[in-house]
Amino acid sequence: MPDRMLQFVRLGQQNPDKRSAMVRRSDFGEIYAEFAPPQAAAQASRCSQCGVPFCQVHCPLSNNIPDWLKLTAEGRLEEAYEVSSATNNFPEICGRICPQDRLCEGNCVIEKSFDSVTIGAVERFITDTAFEQGWVKPIKPVRELPQSVGIVGAGPGGLAAAEELRRRGYQVHVYDRHDRVGGLLIYGIPNFKLEKEIVLRRHALMVESGIVFHLNTEIGRDLSFADLRARHAAVLVATGVYKAREIGGPGAGLAGIVPALDYLVAANRTGLGDAVLEFSNGTLDARGKHVVVVGGGDTAMDCVRTAVRQGAASVKCLYRRDKANMPGSLREVKNAEEEGVEFVWLAAPEAFIGGTTGPDGVERVRSIRAARMHLGLPDASGRQSVEPIEGGHFTVPADLVIKALGFDPEDIPAAFEAPDLTVTRWGTLKTGSTTFMTSLPGVFAAGDIVRGASLVVWAIRDGRDAAQQIHGYLKQTTAVAVAAE
Ligand code: FAD
Ligand code: SF4
Ligand code: SF4
Repeated sequence: MPDRMLQFVRLGQQNPDKRSAMVRRSDFGEIYAEFAPPQAAAQASRCSQCGVPFCQVHCPLSNNIPDWLKLTAEGRLEEAYEVSSATNNFPEICGRICPQDRLCEGNCVIEKSFDSVTIGAVERFITDTAFEQGWVKPIKPVRELPQSVGIVGAGPGGLAAAEELRRRGYQVHVYDRHDRVGGLLIYGIPNFKLEKEIVLRRHALMVESGIVFHLNTEIGRDLSFADLRARHAAVLVATGVYKAREIGGPGAGLAGIVPALDYLVAANRTGLGDAVLEFSNGTLDARGKHVVVVGGGDTAMDCVRTAVRQGAASVKCLYRRDKANMPGSLREVKNAEEEGVEFVWLAAPEAFIGGTTGPDGVERVRSIRAARMHLGLPDASGRQSVEPIEGGHFTVPADLVIKALGFDPEDIPAAFEAPDLTVTRWGTLKTGSTTFMTSLPGVFAAGDIVRGASLVVWAIRDGRDAAQQIHGYLKQTTAVAVAAE
Protein backbone atom coordinates (compact mmCIF):
# COMPACT_ATOMS: atom_id res chain seq x y z
CA MET A 1 0.00 0.00 0.00
CA PRO A 2 1.51 3.34 -0.95
CA ASP A 3 2.25 5.92 1.73
CA ARG A 4 -0.31 8.09 0.04
CA MET A 5 -3.21 6.30 1.75
CA LEU A 6 -4.23 6.21 5.46
CA GLN A 7 -4.08 9.98 5.69
CA PHE A 8 -7.14 10.21 7.93
CA VAL A 9 -4.90 10.59 10.98
CA ARG A 10 -3.42 13.87 9.82
CA LEU A 11 -6.00 15.08 7.32
CA GLY A 12 -9.49 16.11 8.40
CA GLN A 13 -12.69 15.39 6.52
CA GLN A 14 -13.54 18.06 4.00
CA ASN A 15 -16.72 18.05 1.97
CA PRO A 16 -17.07 19.99 -1.27
CA ASP A 17 -17.98 23.62 -0.63
CA LYS A 18 -21.64 24.16 0.11
CA ARG A 19 -23.20 27.40 -1.10
CA SER A 20 -24.47 29.60 1.70
CA ALA A 21 -28.12 29.18 2.61
CA MET A 22 -28.84 32.83 1.78
CA VAL A 23 -27.53 32.41 -1.76
CA ARG A 24 -28.97 28.98 -2.53
CA ARG A 25 -32.46 29.93 -1.30
CA SER A 26 -32.85 32.11 -4.36
CA ASP A 27 -32.06 29.60 -7.13
CA PHE A 28 -32.44 25.94 -8.04
CA GLY A 29 -28.75 25.21 -8.69
CA GLU A 30 -27.07 22.30 -6.91
CA ILE A 31 -25.91 23.30 -3.47
CA TYR A 32 -22.58 21.44 -3.40
CA ALA A 33 -19.62 22.44 -5.58
CA GLU A 34 -17.38 19.88 -7.25
CA PHE A 35 -14.08 18.88 -5.62
CA ALA A 36 -11.01 20.38 -7.26
CA PRO A 37 -8.64 17.53 -8.32
CA PRO A 38 -6.12 18.03 -5.45
CA GLN A 39 -8.97 18.13 -2.94
CA ALA A 40 -10.47 14.89 -4.31
CA ALA A 41 -7.05 13.18 -4.22
CA ALA A 42 -6.43 14.36 -0.65
CA GLN A 43 -9.85 13.27 0.60
CA ALA A 44 -9.55 9.89 -1.15
CA SER A 45 -6.17 9.38 0.53
CA ARG A 46 -7.87 9.38 3.96
CA CYS A 47 -9.13 5.83 3.26
CA SER A 48 -7.37 3.19 5.34
CA GLN A 49 -7.85 0.47 2.65
CA CYS A 50 -9.64 -1.90 5.02
CA GLY A 51 -9.21 -5.63 4.49
CA VAL A 52 -12.96 -6.01 5.00
CA PRO A 53 -14.35 -2.71 3.67
CA PHE A 54 -17.63 -2.11 5.46
CA CYS A 55 -18.32 0.80 3.12
CA GLN A 56 -18.52 -1.68 0.25
CA VAL A 57 -20.57 -4.16 2.27
CA HIS A 58 -23.17 -1.46 2.93
CA CYS A 59 -23.25 -0.09 -0.62
CA PRO A 60 -26.23 -1.73 -2.38
CA LEU A 61 -24.08 -2.01 -5.52
CA SER A 62 -21.08 -3.47 -3.67
CA ASN A 63 -19.00 -0.75 -5.28
CA ASN A 64 -15.28 -1.39 -5.11
CA ILE A 65 -14.80 1.77 -3.05
CA PRO A 66 -11.28 1.22 -1.62
CA ASP A 67 -9.89 0.59 -5.11
CA TRP A 68 -11.32 3.70 -6.72
CA LEU A 69 -10.34 5.80 -3.72
CA LYS A 70 -6.75 4.58 -4.03
CA LEU A 71 -6.68 5.25 -7.78
CA THR A 72 -8.07 8.75 -7.18
CA ALA A 73 -5.46 9.44 -4.51
CA GLU A 74 -2.79 8.41 -7.05
CA GLY A 75 -4.27 10.68 -9.74
CA ARG A 76 -5.17 7.65 -11.93
CA LEU A 77 -8.65 8.97 -12.63
CA GLU A 78 -9.39 7.14 -15.86
CA GLU A 79 -8.74 3.83 -14.12
CA ALA A 80 -10.79 5.01 -11.14
CA TYR A 81 -13.64 5.67 -13.56
CA GLU A 82 -13.30 2.18 -15.09
CA VAL A 83 -13.52 0.56 -11.65
CA SER A 84 -16.35 2.79 -10.46
CA SER A 85 -18.48 2.34 -13.59
CA ALA A 86 -17.99 -1.45 -13.59
CA THR A 87 -20.55 -1.85 -10.79
CA ASN A 88 -22.65 1.32 -11.11
CA ASN A 89 -24.39 2.62 -14.23
CA PHE A 90 -24.83 6.12 -12.82
CA PRO A 91 -22.09 6.82 -10.25
CA GLU A 92 -22.35 10.60 -10.65
CA ILE A 93 -26.04 10.36 -9.70
CA CYS A 94 -25.50 8.11 -6.67
CA GLY A 95 -22.59 10.31 -5.58
CA ARG A 96 -25.06 13.20 -5.45
CA ILE A 97 -28.24 11.69 -4.01
CA CYS A 98 -27.55 8.47 -2.13
CA PRO A 99 -28.16 8.89 1.60
CA GLN A 100 -24.48 8.13 2.23
CA ASP A 101 -24.87 8.72 5.97
CA ARG A 102 -27.02 5.57 6.09
CA LEU A 103 -25.05 3.53 3.53
CA CYS A 104 -21.35 3.64 2.61
CA GLU A 105 -20.12 6.62 4.64
CA GLY A 106 -22.20 5.72 7.69
CA ASN A 107 -20.30 2.41 7.79
CA CYS A 108 -16.81 3.68 7.06
CA VAL A 109 -14.70 2.27 9.88
CA ILE A 110 -12.75 5.45 10.48
CA GLU A 111 -16.08 7.19 11.15
CA LYS A 112 -16.05 6.25 14.84
CA SER A 113 -12.93 8.18 15.81
CA PHE A 114 -12.48 10.38 12.76
CA ASP A 115 -15.03 11.63 10.26
CA SER A 116 -15.76 9.16 7.43
CA VAL A 117 -14.13 9.30 4.02
CA THR A 118 -16.24 11.50 1.71
CA ILE A 119 -17.06 8.57 -0.56
CA GLY A 120 -20.07 10.08 -2.35
CA ALA A 121 -18.31 13.31 -3.28
CA VAL A 122 -15.30 11.41 -4.66
CA GLU A 123 -17.58 9.07 -6.63
CA ARG A 124 -19.33 12.05 -8.19
CA PHE A 125 -15.98 13.74 -8.94
CA ILE A 126 -14.62 10.68 -10.76
CA THR A 127 -17.51 10.38 -13.22
CA ASP A 128 -18.02 14.13 -13.73
CA THR A 129 -14.31 14.25 -14.64
CA ALA A 130 -14.76 11.26 -16.94
CA PHE A 131 -17.55 13.08 -18.79
CA GLU A 132 -15.41 16.23 -19.08
CA GLN A 133 -12.47 14.22 -20.41
CA GLY A 134 -14.56 12.23 -22.90
CA TRP A 135 -13.87 8.89 -21.22
CA VAL A 136 -17.58 8.04 -20.98
CA LYS A 137 -18.40 6.35 -24.27
CA PRO A 138 -21.63 4.98 -25.74
CA ILE A 139 -22.04 1.22 -25.50
CA LYS A 140 -20.81 -0.68 -28.54
CA PRO A 141 -21.85 -4.34 -28.16
CA VAL A 142 -19.32 -6.88 -29.41
CA ARG A 143 -22.09 -8.55 -31.41
CA GLU A 144 -25.72 -7.77 -32.11
CA LEU A 145 -28.31 -10.29 -30.96
CA PRO A 146 -31.66 -10.66 -32.73
CA GLN A 147 -33.85 -10.75 -29.62
CA SER A 148 -35.44 -7.59 -28.32
CA VAL A 149 -36.41 -6.67 -24.78
CA GLY A 150 -39.18 -4.20 -23.91
CA ILE A 151 -38.70 -2.18 -20.74
CA VAL A 152 -41.61 -0.31 -19.20
CA GLY A 153 -40.34 2.69 -17.26
CA ALA A 154 -37.34 4.94 -17.90
CA GLY A 155 -36.45 5.46 -14.23
CA PRO A 156 -33.09 4.37 -12.80
CA GLY A 157 -34.19 0.72 -12.58
CA GLY A 158 -35.33 0.50 -16.21
CA LEU A 159 -32.36 2.50 -17.49
CA ALA A 160 -29.76 0.40 -15.64
CA ALA A 161 -31.33 -2.75 -17.08
CA ALA A 162 -31.45 -1.18 -20.55
CA GLU A 163 -27.71 -0.47 -20.47
CA GLU A 164 -26.80 -3.92 -19.20
CA LEU A 165 -28.93 -5.66 -21.86
CA ARG A 166 -27.62 -3.45 -24.64
CA ARG A 167 -24.05 -4.22 -23.53
CA ARG A 168 -24.86 -7.89 -24.13
CA GLY A 169 -26.10 -7.06 -27.64
CA TYR A 170 -29.89 -7.17 -27.22
CA GLN A 171 -32.21 -4.78 -29.08
CA VAL A 172 -33.55 -2.68 -26.21
CA HIS A 173 -36.76 -0.65 -26.33
CA VAL A 174 -37.73 1.53 -23.36
CA TYR A 175 -41.32 2.78 -23.04
CA ASP A 176 -42.29 5.65 -20.75
CA ARG A 177 -45.48 7.63 -20.31
CA HIS A 178 -43.48 10.80 -19.75
CA ASP A 179 -41.96 12.96 -22.45
CA ARG A 180 -38.49 12.78 -20.86
CA VAL A 181 -36.29 9.97 -19.64
CA GLY A 182 -35.29 9.53 -15.97
CA GLY A 183 -38.47 8.74 -14.00
CA LEU A 184 -38.19 10.35 -10.57
CA LEU A 185 -34.65 11.49 -11.42
CA ILE A 186 -36.10 14.00 -13.87
CA TYR A 187 -39.53 14.91 -12.51
CA GLY A 188 -39.41 13.99 -8.80
CA ILE A 189 -35.99 14.90 -7.39
CA PRO A 190 -35.41 18.68 -7.52
CA ASN A 191 -32.63 20.36 -9.43
CA PHE A 192 -30.88 21.55 -6.26
CA LYS A 193 -30.09 17.89 -5.44
CA LEU A 194 -29.56 16.66 -9.00
CA GLU A 195 -29.21 19.05 -11.92
CA LYS A 196 -31.30 17.85 -14.84
CA GLU A 197 -28.38 18.21 -17.24
CA ILE A 198 -26.82 15.20 -15.48
CA VAL A 199 -29.84 13.05 -16.38
CA LEU A 200 -30.17 14.45 -19.91
CA ARG A 201 -26.55 13.68 -20.80
CA ARG A 202 -27.12 10.06 -19.76
CA HIS A 203 -30.20 9.93 -22.01
CA ALA A 204 -28.17 11.22 -24.98
CA LEU A 205 -25.51 8.58 -24.36
CA MET A 206 -28.09 5.80 -24.27
CA VAL A 207 -29.59 6.95 -27.57
CA GLU A 208 -26.08 6.87 -29.05
CA SER A 209 -25.72 3.34 -27.65
CA GLY A 210 -28.66 2.22 -29.78
CA ILE A 211 -31.27 2.02 -27.03
CA VAL A 212 -34.63 2.97 -28.54
CA PHE A 213 -36.96 5.16 -26.45
CA HIS A 214 -40.72 5.30 -26.96
CA LEU A 215 -41.72 8.33 -24.93
CA ASN A 216 -45.27 9.59 -24.31
CA THR A 217 -46.27 5.93 -24.45
CA GLU A 218 -48.21 4.59 -21.51
CA ILE A 219 -48.45 0.83 -21.43
CA GLY A 220 -52.08 -0.07 -20.80
CA ARG A 221 -53.30 3.09 -22.54
CA ASP A 222 -51.28 3.87 -25.69
CA LEU A 223 -50.03 0.33 -26.17
CA SER A 224 -51.57 -2.72 -24.57
CA PHE A 225 -49.44 -4.94 -22.38
CA ALA A 226 -50.42 -7.93 -24.55
CA ASP A 227 -49.12 -6.13 -27.68
CA LEU A 228 -45.94 -5.20 -25.82
CA ARG A 229 -45.34 -8.84 -24.91
CA ALA A 230 -45.98 -9.89 -28.49
CA ARG A 231 -43.35 -7.41 -29.71
CA HIS A 232 -40.53 -8.56 -27.46
CA ALA A 233 -38.80 -11.77 -26.40
CA ALA A 234 -38.85 -10.56 -22.79
CA VAL A 235 -40.37 -7.64 -20.90
CA LEU A 236 -39.17 -5.79 -17.80
CA VAL A 237 -41.70 -3.82 -15.73
CA ALA A 238 -39.97 -0.96 -13.87
CA THR A 239 -42.86 1.42 -13.40
CA GLY A 240 -42.12 2.73 -9.89
CA VAL A 241 -44.79 3.57 -7.30
CA TYR A 242 -46.96 6.64 -7.72
CA LYS A 243 -50.24 6.32 -5.79
CA ALA A 244 -50.00 9.05 -3.15
CA ARG A 245 -51.14 8.15 0.38
CA GLU A 246 -54.05 10.34 1.38
CA ILE A 247 -54.71 12.54 4.38
CA GLY A 248 -58.09 12.17 6.06
CA GLY A 249 -60.02 14.48 8.34
CA PRO A 250 -62.51 17.31 7.93
CA GLY A 251 -61.67 19.68 5.10
CA ALA A 252 -59.17 17.29 3.49
CA GLY A 253 -60.77 17.92 0.10
CA LEU A 254 -60.37 21.73 0.14
CA ALA A 255 -58.65 23.46 -2.76
CA GLY A 256 -55.01 24.21 -2.01
CA ILE A 257 -54.27 20.76 -0.56
CA VAL A 258 -52.11 19.05 -3.15
CA PRO A 259 -50.12 15.83 -3.55
CA ALA A 260 -46.33 16.21 -3.23
CA LEU A 261 -45.50 14.73 -6.59
CA ASP A 262 -47.91 17.02 -8.51
CA TYR A 263 -46.15 19.93 -6.82
CA LEU A 264 -42.62 18.67 -7.55
CA VAL A 265 -43.39 17.67 -11.15
CA ALA A 266 -44.76 21.16 -11.83
CA ALA A 267 -41.64 22.74 -10.30
CA ASN A 268 -39.27 20.47 -12.23
CA ARG A 269 -41.11 20.95 -15.52
CA THR A 270 -41.08 24.72 -15.02
CA GLY A 271 -37.34 24.54 -14.35
CA LEU A 272 -36.89 22.60 -17.58
CA GLY A 273 -38.64 25.40 -19.48
CA ASP A 274 -42.07 23.78 -19.97
CA ALA A 275 -45.20 25.92 -19.72
CA VAL A 276 -47.09 24.46 -16.76
CA LEU A 277 -50.60 25.85 -16.33
CA GLU A 278 -50.93 24.83 -12.67
CA PHE A 279 -47.72 26.71 -11.95
CA SER A 280 -48.53 29.84 -13.92
CA ASN A 281 -52.06 30.06 -12.48
CA GLY A 282 -50.63 29.75 -8.96
CA THR A 283 -52.23 26.41 -8.02
CA LEU A 284 -48.87 24.69 -7.67
CA ASP A 285 -46.68 27.74 -7.02
CA ALA A 286 -45.71 28.54 -3.42
CA ARG A 287 -44.82 32.16 -4.08
CA GLY A 288 -46.14 34.42 -1.30
CA LYS A 289 -47.98 31.57 0.41
CA HIS A 290 -47.89 30.07 3.87
CA VAL A 291 -46.86 26.54 2.98
CA VAL A 292 -47.26 23.52 5.23
CA VAL A 293 -45.80 20.19 4.15
CA VAL A 294 -47.13 17.14 5.95
CA GLY A 295 -44.67 14.24 6.21
CA GLY A 296 -41.09 13.53 7.23
CA GLY A 297 -39.42 11.67 4.36
CA ASP A 298 -37.17 12.74 1.51
CA THR A 299 -40.16 13.81 -0.57
CA ALA A 300 -41.27 16.17 2.22
CA MET A 301 -37.75 17.64 2.39
CA ASP A 302 -37.75 18.21 -1.36
CA CYS A 303 -41.11 20.00 -1.12
CA VAL A 304 -40.17 22.34 1.73
CA ARG A 305 -36.91 23.30 0.05
CA THR A 306 -38.65 23.87 -3.29
CA ALA A 307 -41.23 26.12 -1.58
CA VAL A 308 -38.43 28.19 -0.01
CA ARG A 309 -36.90 28.73 -3.45
CA GLN A 310 -40.25 29.69 -4.97
CA GLY A 311 -40.50 32.55 -2.47
CA ALA A 312 -43.08 31.24 0.00
CA ALA A 313 -44.07 33.60 2.83
CA SER A 314 -43.38 30.82 5.34
CA VAL A 315 -42.58 27.11 5.12
CA LYS A 316 -43.37 24.61 7.85
CA CYS A 317 -42.94 20.87 7.97
CA LEU A 318 -45.43 19.04 10.18
CA TYR A 319 -44.24 15.62 11.26
CA ARG A 320 -45.97 13.38 13.79
CA ARG A 321 -42.79 11.89 15.24
CA ASP A 322 -39.62 13.64 16.44
CA LYS A 323 -36.44 14.46 14.58
CA ALA A 324 -34.66 11.29 15.71
CA ASN A 325 -37.44 9.19 14.16
CA MET A 326 -37.66 10.92 10.80
CA PRO A 327 -37.40 8.55 7.83
CA GLY A 328 -35.66 11.15 5.65
CA SER A 329 -31.94 11.77 5.42
CA LEU A 330 -30.66 13.92 8.31
CA ARG A 331 -28.37 15.69 5.86
CA GLU A 332 -31.44 16.93 3.97
CA VAL A 333 -33.16 17.99 7.21
CA LYS A 334 -30.09 20.04 8.10
CA ASN A 335 -30.05 21.64 4.65
CA ALA A 336 -33.73 22.52 5.00
CA GLU A 337 -33.21 24.01 8.47
CA GLU A 338 -30.35 26.13 7.18
CA GLU A 339 -32.59 27.38 4.37
CA GLY A 340 -35.21 28.62 6.84
CA VAL A 341 -37.73 25.78 7.02
CA GLU A 342 -39.49 25.51 10.37
CA PHE A 343 -39.97 21.96 11.62
CA VAL A 344 -42.95 21.29 13.84
CA TRP A 345 -42.13 17.94 15.39
CA LEU A 346 -44.69 15.70 17.08
CA ALA A 347 -47.59 17.32 15.30
CA ALA A 348 -50.32 15.82 13.10
CA PRO A 349 -53.10 17.57 11.15
CA GLU A 350 -56.62 16.98 12.49
CA ALA A 351 -58.68 19.27 10.31
CA PHE A 352 -58.24 21.68 7.42
CA ILE A 353 -60.07 24.95 7.74
CA GLY A 354 -61.28 26.75 4.63
CA GLY A 355 -61.57 30.47 4.30
CA THR A 356 -62.40 33.38 2.05
CA THR A 357 -63.54 32.31 -1.35
CA GLY A 358 -61.88 33.86 -4.37
CA PRO A 359 -63.71 35.28 -7.40
CA ASP A 360 -64.15 31.70 -8.67
CA GLY A 361 -66.21 30.86 -5.57
CA VAL A 362 -63.93 27.99 -4.60
CA GLU A 363 -63.28 27.52 -0.91
CA ARG A 364 -59.56 27.20 -0.21
CA VAL A 365 -57.59 25.97 2.75
CA ARG A 366 -56.53 28.79 5.08
CA SER A 367 -55.22 26.99 8.15
CA ILE A 368 -54.65 23.60 9.73
CA ARG A 369 -55.79 22.51 13.16
CA ALA A 370 -53.10 20.17 14.42
CA ALA A 371 -52.77 17.89 17.41
CA ARG A 372 -49.63 17.64 19.54
CA MET A 373 -48.39 14.07 19.64
CA HIS A 374 -46.20 12.07 21.95
CA LEU A 375 -44.24 8.90 21.39
CA GLY A 376 -45.65 5.82 23.10
CA LEU A 377 -44.42 2.27 23.54
CA PRO A 378 -42.71 0.44 20.70
CA ASP A 379 -45.04 -1.69 18.52
CA ALA A 380 -44.33 -5.17 17.14
CA SER A 381 -41.88 -3.68 14.60
CA GLY A 382 -39.96 -1.98 17.41
CA ARG A 383 -41.01 1.48 16.25
CA GLN A 384 -42.55 3.75 18.90
CA SER A 385 -46.26 4.40 18.43
CA VAL A 386 -47.55 7.97 18.24
CA GLU A 387 -50.54 9.19 20.23
CA PRO A 388 -52.22 12.59 20.47
CA ILE A 389 -51.79 14.57 23.68
CA GLU A 390 -55.21 15.34 25.11
CA GLY A 391 -56.13 19.00 24.68
CA GLY A 392 -52.90 19.70 22.79
CA HIS A 393 -54.31 21.49 19.77
CA PHE A 394 -52.93 24.41 17.84
CA THR A 395 -53.54 26.15 14.54
CA VAL A 396 -51.08 27.03 11.81
CA PRO A 397 -51.81 29.31 8.87
CA ALA A 398 -51.69 27.43 5.57
CA ASP A 399 -52.76 28.43 2.09
CA LEU A 400 -50.83 25.66 0.37
CA VAL A 401 -50.79 22.24 2.03
CA ILE A 402 -48.56 19.61 0.44
CA LYS A 403 -49.26 15.96 1.27
CA ALA A 404 -46.01 13.97 1.41
CA LEU A 405 -47.06 10.80 3.19
CA GLY A 406 -45.50 8.27 0.86
CA PHE A 407 -46.50 6.26 -2.17
CA ASP A 408 -48.16 2.94 -2.89
CA PRO A 409 -48.14 0.97 -6.13
CA GLU A 410 -50.85 1.54 -8.69
CA ASP A 411 -52.96 -1.50 -9.62
CA ILE A 412 -50.67 -2.85 -12.33
CA PRO A 413 -52.64 -6.04 -13.15
CA ALA A 414 -55.73 -3.86 -13.79
CA ALA A 415 -53.84 -1.16 -15.71
CA PHE A 416 -52.15 -3.81 -17.88
CA GLU A 417 -55.31 -5.96 -18.17
CA ALA A 418 -53.17 -8.82 -16.94
CA PRO A 419 -55.08 -10.45 -14.07
CA ASP A 420 -52.53 -13.28 -13.93
CA LEU A 421 -49.80 -10.86 -12.92
CA THR A 422 -49.49 -11.67 -9.22
CA VAL A 423 -49.01 -8.94 -6.61
CA THR A 424 -48.05 -9.02 -2.93
CA ARG A 425 -50.41 -7.87 -0.18
CA TRP A 426 -48.85 -4.41 -0.53
CA GLY A 427 -49.71 -4.31 -4.24
CA THR A 428 -46.09 -4.56 -5.40
CA LEU A 429 -45.31 -7.03 -8.17
CA LYS A 430 -44.39 -10.48 -6.93
CA THR A 431 -41.16 -11.83 -8.39
CA GLY A 432 -38.89 -14.77 -7.71
CA SER A 433 -36.35 -13.51 -5.17
CA THR A 434 -33.40 -14.29 -7.42
CA THR A 435 -35.07 -14.71 -10.83
CA PHE A 436 -36.83 -11.31 -10.95
CA MET A 437 -39.48 -13.09 -13.05
CA THR A 438 -43.12 -12.32 -12.29
CA SER A 439 -45.92 -14.88 -12.42
CA LEU A 440 -45.98 -14.42 -16.23
CA PRO A 441 -43.27 -16.22 -18.22
CA GLY A 442 -40.79 -13.82 -19.79
CA VAL A 443 -42.09 -10.86 -17.78
CA PHE A 444 -39.63 -9.53 -15.21
CA ALA A 445 -39.91 -6.65 -12.73
CA ALA A 446 -37.46 -4.43 -10.84
CA GLY A 447 -37.12 -1.28 -8.75
CA ASP A 448 -39.78 0.41 -6.63
CA ILE A 449 -42.63 -1.56 -8.22
CA VAL A 450 -41.14 -4.66 -6.55
CA ARG A 451 -39.58 -3.17 -3.38
CA GLY A 452 -42.06 -0.38 -2.67
CA ALA A 453 -40.77 3.20 -2.44
CA SER A 454 -37.01 2.88 -1.98
CA LEU A 455 -33.79 4.44 -3.27
CA VAL A 456 -32.21 5.15 -6.63
CA VAL A 457 -29.21 2.96 -5.79
CA TRP A 458 -31.47 -0.02 -5.07
CA ALA A 459 -33.35 0.51 -8.35
CA ILE A 460 -30.01 0.45 -10.19
CA ARG A 461 -29.00 -2.72 -8.39
CA ASP A 462 -32.30 -4.40 -9.24
CA GLY A 463 -32.13 -3.27 -12.86
CA ARG A 464 -28.66 -4.78 -13.21
CA ASP A 465 -29.66 -8.04 -11.57
CA ALA A 466 -32.87 -8.28 -13.59
CA ALA A 467 -30.88 -7.77 -16.81
CA GLN A 468 -28.64 -10.66 -15.83
CA GLN A 469 -31.68 -12.86 -15.27
CA ILE A 470 -33.32 -11.79 -18.55
CA HIS A 471 -30.09 -12.69 -20.34
CA GLY A 472 -30.13 -16.16 -18.74
CA TYR A 473 -33.79 -16.61 -19.67
CA LEU A 474 -33.25 -15.59 -23.30
CA LYS A 475 -30.22 -17.82 -23.67
CA GLN A 476 -32.24 -20.73 -22.35
CA THR A 477 -35.31 -20.08 -24.53
CA THR A 478 -33.10 -19.68 -27.61
CA ALA A 479 -31.30 -22.94 -26.86
CA VAL A 480 -34.65 -24.72 -26.49
CA ALA A 481 -35.91 -23.23 -29.78
CA VAL A 482 -32.73 -24.26 -31.63
CA ALA A 483 -32.91 -27.78 -30.21
CA ALA A 484 -36.53 -28.06 -31.35
CA GLU A 485 -35.65 -27.11 -34.97
P1 FAD B 1 -39.16 5.52 -11.15
O1 FAD B 1 -37.98 6.39 -10.99
O2 FAD B 1 -40.39 5.93 -10.45
O3 FAD B 1 -39.46 5.40 -12.71
C1 FAD B 1 -40.59 4.71 -13.18
C2 FAD B 1 -40.93 5.20 -14.58
O4 FAD B 1 -41.97 4.38 -15.10
C3 FAD B 1 -41.44 6.63 -14.62
O5 FAD B 1 -40.73 7.37 -15.58
C4 FAD B 1 -42.91 6.48 -15.04
O6 FAD B 1 -43.34 7.54 -15.87
C5 FAD B 1 -42.87 5.18 -15.83
N1 FAD B 1 -44.15 4.50 -15.91
C6 FAD B 1 -44.96 4.17 -14.88
N2 FAD B 1 -46.05 3.49 -15.36
C7 FAD B 1 -45.90 3.43 -16.71
C8 FAD B 1 -46.68 2.87 -17.77
N3 FAD B 1 -47.84 2.24 -17.52
N4 FAD B 1 -46.24 2.99 -19.04
C9 FAD B 1 -45.06 3.62 -19.30
N5 FAD B 1 -44.29 4.17 -18.33
C10 FAD B 1 -44.70 4.06 -17.06
N6 FAD B 1 -33.88 8.16 -3.78
C11 FAD B 1 -32.57 8.39 -3.49
O7 FAD B 1 -31.77 7.46 -3.55
N7 FAD B 1 -32.14 9.63 -3.12
C12 FAD B 1 -32.98 10.70 -3.07
O8 FAD B 1 -32.56 11.81 -2.75
C13 FAD B 1 -34.34 10.50 -3.41
N8 FAD B 1 -35.20 11.54 -3.42
C14 FAD B 1 -36.48 11.32 -3.80
C15 FAD B 1 -37.34 12.40 -3.87
C16 FAD B 1 -38.66 12.23 -4.26
C17 FAD B 1 -39.56 13.41 -4.36
C18 FAD B 1 -39.14 10.91 -4.55
C19 FAD B 1 -40.58 10.71 -4.91
C20 FAD B 1 -38.30 9.84 -4.48
C21 FAD B 1 -36.96 10.02 -4.12
N9 FAD B 1 -36.07 8.96 -4.08
C22 FAD B 1 -34.76 9.18 -3.76
C23 FAD B 1 -36.50 7.59 -4.44
C24 FAD B 1 -36.10 7.24 -5.89
O9 FAD B 1 -36.38 8.31 -6.74
C25 FAD B 1 -36.81 5.97 -6.35
O10 FAD B 1 -36.56 4.94 -5.42
C26 FAD B 1 -36.32 5.54 -7.73
O11 FAD B 1 -36.48 6.56 -8.68
C27 FAD B 1 -37.08 4.28 -8.19
O12 FAD B 1 -36.67 3.95 -9.49
P2 FAD B 1 -37.62 3.12 -10.46
O13 FAD B 1 -36.84 2.98 -11.74
O14 FAD B 1 -38.07 1.89 -9.80
O15 FAD B 1 -38.92 4.00 -10.71
FE1 SF4 C 1 -22.16 5.13 -1.45
FE2 SF4 C 1 -24.34 5.14 -2.97
FE3 SF4 C 1 -21.96 5.34 -4.09
FE4 SF4 C 1 -22.72 3.04 -2.98
S1 SF4 C 1 -23.62 4.02 -4.77
S2 SF4 C 1 -20.72 4.05 -2.78
S3 SF4 C 1 -23.95 3.77 -1.26
S4 SF4 C 1 -22.88 6.83 -2.71
FE1 SF4 D 1 -11.75 3.21 3.25
FE2 SF4 D 1 -13.70 3.71 5.08
FE3 SF4 D 1 -14.05 1.92 3.16
FE4 SF4 D 1 -12.33 1.40 5.11
S1 SF4 D 1 -14.55 1.63 5.33
S2 SF4 D 1 -12.04 1.01 2.91
S3 SF4 D 1 -11.54 3.47 5.47
S4 SF4 D 1 -13.75 4.11 2.87
